[in-house]
Amino acid sequence: MTEVDAPRALADASGATPSRDRAALARAVEHANLPTLVAVLFQLTGDRAWLADPYRPTRSRGMDDNDDGGFPPPVQARIRAAAVDAVLAWADGRPPAVPAPTGDALVELMSLAVGEEVPAEYAEMTAEDMGFAPAPARAPRTGSATGFSVIVIGAGVSGMLASIKLTEAGIDHVVLEKNDDVGGTWLENRYPGAGVDTPSYLYSYSFAPRAWSTHFGKRDEVYRYLRDVAERHDLRRVIRFGTEVTAAEYHAARQRWTVRTADGQELTANAVITATGQLNRPKVPALPGLDAFRGPIFHSAHWPADLDLTGKRVAIVGTGASAMQIVPAIAGDAAQVTIFQRSPQWAAPNDVYFAPVGDAVHHLMAHVPFYSRWYRTRLAWNFNDRVHPSLQVDPEWEHADRSVNAINDAHRRVFTRYLTAQLEGREDLVAKALPDYPPFGKRMLLDNGWFAALRRDDVELITEAVAEITGTGVRSVAGTEREADVVVLATGFETHKLLHPIDVRGRDGRSIREVWGPEDATAHLGITTAGFPNLFITCGPGTVLGHGGSYITIAECQVRYIVDLLVSMIDGGIGAVECRPEVEAAYVRRHDDAHARMIWTHPGMDNWYRNDAGRVVSTLPWRIVDYWSMTRSADLADFRTEPVVR
Ligand code: NAP
Repeated sequence: MTEVDAPRALADASGATPSRDRAALARAVEHANLPTLVAVLFQLTGDRAWLADPYRPTRSRGMDDNDDGGFPPPVQARIRAAAVDAVLAWADGRPPAVPAPTGDALVELMSLAVGEEVPAEYAEMTAEDMGFAPAPARAPRTGSATGFSVIVIGAGVSGMLASIKLTEAGIDHVVLEKNDDVGGTWLENRYPGAGVDTPSYLYSYSFAPRAWSTHFGKRDEVYRYLRDVAERHDLRRVIRFGTEVTAAEYHAARQRWTVRTADGQELTANAVITATGQLNRPKVPALPGLDAFRGPIFHSAHWPADLDLTGKRVAIVGTGASAMQIVPAIAGDAAQVTIFQRSPQWAAPNDVYFAPVGDAVHHLMAHVPFYSRWYRTRLAWNFNDRVHPSLQVDPEWEHADRSVNAINDAHRRVFTRYLTAQLEGREDLVAKALPDYPPFGKRMLLDNGWFAALRRDDVELITEAVAEITGTGVRSVAGTEREADVVVLATGFETHKLLHPIDVRGRDGRSIREVWGPEDATAHLGITTAGFPNLFITCGPGTVLGHGGSYITIAECQVRYIVDLLVSMIDGGIGAVECRPEVEAAYVRRHDDAHARMIWTHPGMDNWYRNDAGRVVSTLPWRIVDYWSMTRSADLADFRTEPVVR
């Protein structure tokens, strides 16, 4: 299997290439995810027996893959044997009985594969993701895009995607990237232990699957994946590297944007797509003494390439997702790790966090028709929206201090049990590490060895925020002082200063910073905002996922919407589209109302999702399936439009 498989458009709808190697297949099915295999069996044979007991798997508990489906061993053996026969028959030329289920048929099959009732509203989104229904791919009429151009800012996950989809639509564009390579956050964040905590088979573009080496790809592999995608789509052709955008200004009379770069370039285009992410600009706390420290001191996103921590005393400030990955990765190499924790984090277990995927599973993904599709769909079900209903505040709930409803409270019990088991015999650590706020109130983390690291003699957890950096170490607000040779500021990102530090000016020269204020960005669908015609934002306000799932799914929704709108402009002779203020205001009202009923406004904790005024700026309050529907196509009625000026 190649590193990046054939693009969806070229692949068979089954996503697999035939292999007649019975022995390899028989070996591989021993490692199969059986709920996935049952769905495959039905598609290949059309035999409804596979839809009923004893072949109905149980549902996953938590984020578990549920590989054995809860089937007794004899049933497992029957499924595997039948799968070998059916797959070989397919490889010999027998077409699948149900090659592309959609609508009710797909929902029935999804419900089988995930072991619980799936609502009908998931059918369309899933059919497109699985390649069973064509994804709308609009392109301008021949010739109509002539002279229309777009500037994309950023060549990370979203900017690369925008470029791929603009190219597919035949829309002329250039991508400006401040770094010397693609990858954005995955290029920049090289700290030890860096990697995804969304399963890689889900955290991949829908059109570019990969044979991942581990279930949760580490940074180098994610970065390689993005480079491979860039190669395959020849993206470097349209990217200008080392080109940092400093300003973008709209000229209403000409219906064009002018973009300026740090190295003095000035480019113009009809539209601008920003793809600068929300986790891009490191947030360094204004601690006294930052300049006084005598050794290396740096933000987690600026990890020095040649830093050797062997025998060093390392102080880590922060306990977010970055620190959670750094500490287990460096403990043992460093002589001593001291963590300064302002607030503890909830962390969930995951059995396959470090597990290799292995040849058997790669064989199944490559040669068993529909296997990779169903495997991803099951992940999407478990990781995307499943937890969303449990994040709604129950106003009647009597334990509002510790959880937001009965299910959230049950989650609390599960994660508490896990934490106390991990720290068994260390009541001191339990007291320090157990959060008192509701689980999911801050971004939920996966335990990657964090609790095991806390137990080590050479790791110390200090539950005091940092007050000051001294010449030789770190001092907490309570006066606790620790010497250190290296200080890591794992203190997060400027998530609310969207588009910062670019000076974006729309109609009449108005700065987006003035319109939004320093930390209160709003946009219709998180994509488009009144006063800024022909400006489209990816990873904009209210579109980060707090409840789970893969951000790439959201990026695909946004880029599809933007390209749809651009095609409408081009074909319709429209020179400017500007979101109607009342449309944006209504959207923001719905967004804020939804958040007011959700967990991230709970007063028990701070999180990077909301600003100092308490308004949630970063996260999506809806399910992914809702956002998918909202962004399926762009409605011109939501915009003031102007005909092209000649
Ligand atoms: P973060 O979640 O914002 O965490 C920053 C940490 O620094 C918090 O623990 C914060 O404490 C602490 N902090 C800030 N100022 C402090 C001070 N003066 N003294 C002591 N502690 C201080 O940042 P992050 O860990 O870089 O993660 C940001 C986001 O990036 C994540 O939520 C996630 O979306 C993404 N990310 C993902 C992965 C992954 O996929 N595995 C890995 C890394 C990052 P408080 O909690 O008290 O504010």
